[in-house]
Amino acid sequence: MGGLKALLGLMRRLRSLILRSEVRVVGQCHVCGKCCQGILLRDRGRWLRTEHAFRRLCRDEPGHERFEITERDDAGRLVFRCASLGADNFCTCYADRLPLCKSYPSKSLYYQGITLREDCGFSFKATTFRDIIRQRSRRSIPEFTEVLRRELDKPGNREGQ
Ligand code: SF4
Ligand code: SF4
Repeated sequence: MGGLKALLGLMRRLRSLILRSEVRVVGQCHVCGKCCQGILLRDRGRWLRTEHAFRRLCRDEPGHERFEITERDDAGRLVFRCASLGADNFCTCYADRLPLCKSYPSKSLYYQGITLREDCGFSFKATTFRDIIRQRSRRSIPEFTEVLRRELDKPGNREGQ
C-alpha cells in the first residue's frame, strides 16, 4: 500500500514536471473535523510505526503530545486523533496549532501519493495529459477554420471567378 502511494506520488511529480503545471488546492473547509482524527504522522521522511518513534517526535518537536494513538492501520502505521479537537469539530487551540495543521491539505501530500477523503471540502486539482490533449484539439479547430478561410479568400478560389 505504502509502495503504491509512493509510486503514485512519483507519477504525479513527473507529470507535473513534464506539463510544467503545479497542482492546486481548491475548495474550502466545512469543519467536519475528520482530518483531526485518523491522522498519520511522519518523522524524518518515514511514517510513525512505533511508540518509540512517536515519543522521539514529541521530544524533538514539542506540540505533538496532543496526538493520541488510536489504532494501527493495515500497513502497520500508527493512527492518531488530536486531543485538541472540540466536540463542535473546531480546533480548541487554533492559534497554537501545528504547522502541519496550518498547511493542511498541502500540495506535498498530493506529491506523496495521498488522496484526500471524498467528503473533505478541499480537493487537489491537477492538469492531466488528457486536459492538454483536449485543449490542443479545441485550439486546432479555429486554426483549421482560419486556414480554410484564407484559402477561400485567395483570388481564383472565390465563387464566380
Ligand atoms: S476533512 Fe476537510 S472539510 Fe473536514 S475539517 Fe478537515 S479540511 Fe475541513
Ligand atoms: S491542533 Fe487543531 S487543527 Fe491540528 S489536528 Fe488538532 S484539532 Fe485539528
